[in-house]
Amino acid sequence: MSTNQARCPECAVPLTVWRVVAAPLPNRLRCGACRARLRFEVNLLALIALAAAVLAGVVWLARPFYALLAPLGIVSAAVFAAAAALGLWLAFEFGLAWFLVHRRPVRAVHD
Ligand SMILES: [Zn+2]
Repeated sequence: MSTNQARCPECAVPLTVWRVVAAPLPNRLRCGACRARLRFEVNLLALIALAAAVLAGVVWLARPFYALLAPLGIVSAAVFAAAAALGLWLAFEFGLAWFLVHRRPVRAVHD
C-alpha cells in the first residue's frame, strides 16, 4: 500500500496495521513472521495525552446527544454509550496503528 510502511528489522517482513492494533501496547509488539520483539519510536506519555484529549473532546462534543439518550432508560442508554465508546476506541486504535506503521521507525528489542 505504501512504500514507507514499517518493516521488521530482523526479517524485513512488512508490519501490518492489524498487528499493531492487536498488540497490548505499541511498544509491546511481536513480528508476525519471526516473532522478534519490536517497538516503535514513540513517546508513550504523548500517546496517553493524545488519547485523553480525544476522549475529552468526544465527551464534550457528544453533549447534545446525552438528552436524546435519557428517554431510552438507563440500561439502553448505557449499552448505547458503551457501543459508541467501543466504536470510537477502535477508530482511534486503528488510526493510531496506521500512523505508527506508516510514519514511525520501528526497531527490534533485545534483552
Ligand atoms: Zn520479523
